[in-house]
Amino acid sequence: MKALKKNVWASASGEADDQEPPLPYGGIVQAEVNLQQPCPPNQVTQAFITNRFPGTSQADWNNWHWQLRNSFKSIKDLSTFLHLSQDELAVAGQNTNLPIRITPYYASLLSKFNPDHPLRKTVVPVMDELIMSKGEAEDPLCETHDSVAKCLVHRYPDRLLFLVTDFCSAYCRYCTRSHMVAKDKNHIIKRNDWLQAINYIKNHTEIRDVILSGGDPLTLPDCHIEFLLSQLRAIPHVEIIRIGTKVPAVLPQRITPALLRILKKYHPLYMSIHFTHPDEITPEVKKACNMLADAGIPMGSQTVLLKDVNDDVPTFKKLFHELLKVRVRPYYIYQCDPIPGSGHFRTPVEKGLEIIQGLRGFTSGYAVPHYVIDAPGGGGKIPLLPEYVIGRNDNGLVLRNFEGNEYVYPD
Ligand code: SF4
Repeated sequence: MKALKKNVWASASGEADDQEPPLPYGGIVQAEVNLQQPCPPNQVTQAFITNRFPGTSQADWNNWHWQLRNSFKSIKDLSTFLHLSQDELAVAGQNTNLPIRITPYYASLLSKFNPDHPLRKTVVPVMDELIMSKGEAEDPLCETHDSVAKCLVHRYPDRLLFLVTDFCSAYCRYCTRSHMVAKDKNHIIKRNDWLQAINYIKNHTEIRDVILSGGDPLTLPDCHIEFLLSQLRAIPHVEIIRIGTKVPAVLPQRITPALLRILKKYHPLYMSIHFTHPDEITPEVKKACNMLADAGIPMGSQTVLLKDVNDDVPTFKKLFHELLKVRVRPYYIYQCDPIPGSGHFRTPVEKGLEIIQGLRGFTSGYAVPHYVIDAPGGGGKIPLLPEYVIGRNDNGLVLRNFEGNEYVYPD
């Protein structure tokens, strides 16, 4: 963790400065998780509840509706529990790409004093968001261009992206879809848009894979999720359904037995879960992932490579080892997309290659995801690999292994 800058604190809450609570890594005691019982809050979260939500019952805290109702939605809200830096305070009243939204649960994991804390940087805006860098664009992946209906993106021949809501339980400051997420203040679902999308899928027999995304589909009520899944499952050519979500990381309370009963009915159902940092893998998140795995849902992780958040090999190795322990297979590392105001998050591409090189051979192959650039202009995902083929000699193909040693394969 970086050293704190002096004199950057402003306690808008007027609270006296107190001690930084222990942060999750290596803080949280990894207690046995009972999947049948509501999860008692981890130590860090319990300290936060006592300070910020005194008197809140465990039943309320574990209720995902309570979490959404009590989310933090402004710099003023954040100042009630964070000692904000001048940079963070200056964002108040500015026109950022995305609003602020952080669940109380996720807020409990943020460092109170350190604006450089990795999780805090991903959800608390700073003034750099207002700086437009070269190559940045509102919709860098040109999804609007591939949009075939109000909430459908059809780029690849046999699969399709169905954007079912513009709401998320927490807004990531680097969100690729910041041009369309949280744009309707009331997040109203237009039933006709959904029906139009379902009709399009029915009429396009080449679509065998539908990805529900948004926004975050798991923020929808159970009945809406059931409606969507049942409609899609009734289409004979839809072979698999995937849900893209960050909910298990930021709102694990949403993974309820009632939701699982619905999801289980619509297999084969896959889930791509957005994780950023090992500090996210708390007992609550482990429980949520284990419940999803026990419901037979294969899970893969998606992680955006972010400067000063997760841009080193030990952080990724820890994250991927923790994910494999809860049956989530590391799937993609994304180079950060050039959305407006994202320059402070972007690393050089060499950094991503260095991370893959630091994983491949040094840990289980299951812990090595694909590193991809989603090509600006709508080119789709392009995988990048460190150079393992050196060239050819008279005996065949010259290869380099993970330790840098050369070998010849008689090709
Ligand atoms: S959860 Fe996904 S869609 Fe929502 S703000 Fe984060 S990156 Fe964007």
